[in-house]
Amino acid sequence: MANENYPAAASKFGSCCDGLKEAMAGEDFDPLIAEEDGVLYLAVGLVEMEDEEGEQGMIDHPLYFCPFCGTKVQDEEEVKAKIGEPQDES
Ligand SMILES: [Zn+2]
Repeated sequence: MANENYPAAASKFGSCCDGLKEAMAGEDFDPLIAEEDGVLYLAVGLVEMEDEEGEQGMIDHPLYFCPFCGTKVQDEEEVKAKIGEPQDES
């Protein structure tokens, strides 16, 4: 997952406002907004994992607009290009 364009510590997301930057940094908490493979995700809920008792998994969804300042951080086409078609893992 090497990204030549950005140093690891400086994501392209979070540059719009401190609110998003701090939410992603998660220094004092587990962030629910996280970047993965160049796509910014928002965790929208928790789900019980069927296989592992007591374990909770995160349901996440691509985040298109900053929840703090409303800036568009990525668009749907961009996300689709990066994650490809949804994969059926069952
Ligand atoms: Zn923002």
